[in-house]
Amino acid sequence: MITVEEARSLLFDLVSPLPAETVRLSGAAGRILADNVAATRDQPPFAASSMDGYAVKATEVELHAMFKVVGEAAAGHRFGGTVGPGQAVRIFTGAPVPDGADFVVIQEDVDRRGDLITITDAPGSKNNIRPAGIDFRTGTRITAPRQIRPEDIALMAAMNIASVPVTRKPVIALISTGNELVMPGETPGPDQIIASNTFGLKALLEECGAHVRILPIAQDTVASLETGFGLAQGADLVVTIGGASVGEYDLVADVSDGLGLERSFYKIRMRPGKPLMAGRLGDAAMVGLPGNPVSAMVCGYLFLVPMVRHMLGMDHAVAPLQQAILSAPLAKNGPREHYMRAVLDHTGIRACEDQDSSLLSVLAQANALLVRQPHDPARTVGDEVTYLPIQQIR
Ligand code: AMP
Ligand code: MG
Repeated sequence: MITVEEARSLLFDLVSPLPAETVRLSGAAGRILADNVAATRDQPPFAASSMDGYAVKATEVELHAMFKVVGEAAAGHRFGGTVGPGQAVRIFTGAPVPDGADFVVIQEDVDRRGDLITITDAPGSKNNIRPAGIDFRTGTRITAPRQIRPEDIALMAAMNIASVPVTRKPVIALISTGNELVMPGETPGPDQIIASNTFGLKALLEECGAHVRILPIAQDTVASLETGFGLAQGADLVVTIGGASVGEYDLVADVSDGLGLERSFYKIRMRPGKPLMAGRLGDAAMVGLPGNPVSAMVCGYLFLVPMVRHMLGMDHAVAPLQQAILSAPLAKNGPREHYMRAVLDHTGIRACEDQDSSLLSVLAQANALLVRQPHDPARTVGDEVTYLPIQQIR
């Protein structure tokens, strides 16, 4: 059996960074910038007033100085003339500073009577002018790869970049397998349960930038699984859930082998999630996850999220582990790497009491996976441990 680290590097070999596509600026938030973009103009494009007031010559600014108001400069409409000695132009925030002026006296420092103003409060040395290009200049770049944030959208808009090159979203097909499963909202038979994994994984993977298709639940028969794989055509990554271990109803390995899976590995030395298989199936990567809901989600954090980030061309496909101080003791670990659901708060980190891999209620309370190495000895309160945050994972 291989380690989590080894499995991840084999999984990266199954997928490649995807090509770029162009989207409208308004649809680009959260996408991954695929190529550098550059400003097509200076901002501001002219020296602009940062206040409402009067544009004058700086050399003439002093307490009690008087000026004649000769015109107006508003945002979107400049004063066409030149400010001469003893003259002022009424000016508003965002307006171009007129020729001849290099100082804006704020209106609070001025007394106005008709066309005459007098400076009644010492204006200080700040000229209240934003030089042309002070925010950015033509050619200023935003560099790829980068997950586009709302702030980037605002900046690109100001740069007059109306369409944005982004990495195509990876398309992921999710297939739940099992005769016992029905979809949320359906009425289950007496021995049935609701398929939860596909929905949790869809939410997780879409948050990190994938396009996810939930396919119909496959029954535990060869024909139904083959139909499922058929419906997954066109996906970059096909993920099956359940049916991956060694019971009589665990047919995913056999069926995917029969369809020509070039298997990369099967089984990882970890808890939860040992029976995980992966390979290439036609044009797609294929990952077979274990069915237990917590195992499936943990494999989502550890393997599928990094695969998505790799396909998106992101620099750091694997989120770095972090350190925290234990707030409750831990028993010694067994022979497999263990990813324990844990709660991190101001007191430190503690593993949730029941680590059974079927308990979604426990996972929903957790905000971290506490990582134990194989044979890690017992730990006491105050020890430093490593964890993977699962709230900021994307
Ligand atoms: P399996 O790997 O198929 O043996 O499934 C292991 C356990 O996970 C069983 O209790 C299944 O009922 C359950 N399970 C499998 N797939 C799902 C799913 N999509 N949603 C919720 N539970 C599942
Ligand atoms: Mg099953």
